[in-house]
Amino acid sequence: MKIVLLGPPGAGKGTLAKIVKDQLKVPHISTGDILREEIARQSGLGLKVKSYMDKGELVPDDLVIALIEKKLSDPAIKSKGYMLDGFPRNTHQAQTLGKILENIGQPLDFALYMTASLAVILRRLSGRRVCKQCGTVYHLTNRPAKQEGVCDLCGAVLYQRADDNEETIRKRMDVYWESTRPMLDYYQTQDKLRTFDGDLETEEVFEILLKMLHEDTKVDHH
Ligand code: AMP
Repeated sequence: MKIVLLGPPGAGKGTLAKIVKDQLKVPHISTGDILREEIARQSGLGLKVKSYMDKGELVPDDLVIALIEKKLSDPAIKSKGYMLDGFPRNTHQAQTLGKILENIGQPLDFALYMTASLAVILRRLSGRRVCKQCGTVYHLTNRPAKQEGVCDLCGAVLYQRADDNEETIRKRMDVYWESTRPMLDYYQTQDKLRTFDGDLETEEVFEILLKMLHEDTKVDHH
């Protein structure tokens, strides 16, 4: 499976990608997760990107493109494919990704666009809690951990992302509409865009995705 996940913050991209990774063993590459790890490690890259991320702005293209290029050179990508989450974020990144994928001979199957209503986005992001260790996503009311503040799966501490506050969420939505949303045209013209209702529960979205992939394979075989 070779797909990119598109959609506003809070559409459920990361949660879907984690289900797909667990069930189908497809590598999940999230630029946001990688950058947050770099910040936690206080690496050179982490120090460079922190202020952009804290403000809800996009980090410079050359930094994320270099990251993605490195991740996509992993041999596992050749056998298992990839699920990109949070990249690309603008038309330039989408075009560059197209060239990288062409060079490594792993062209995209689909761009999955997860829509979501603003009310759902705000509710999801403001109550979101993430495991510090394994990245599992919880929600204070929609998907609470069995023991408050502790990951069900690995027992590590849950935290609230620094950019999941009202002011930064608003900025991230502005950036989405300004830079990311127009990029959908790039995939539309290539007939790769498939739209999903991100207001649904992630398990339902996963079922729809499986059906779509099944239909696609049937088409391929006939
Ligand atoms: P996410 O975890 O996908 O919500 O990303 C969190 C933050 O990381 C974003 O608000 C950006 O500051 C940064 N980021 C993640 N992916 C990208 C990207 N492809 N291009 C630029 N900035 C990114």
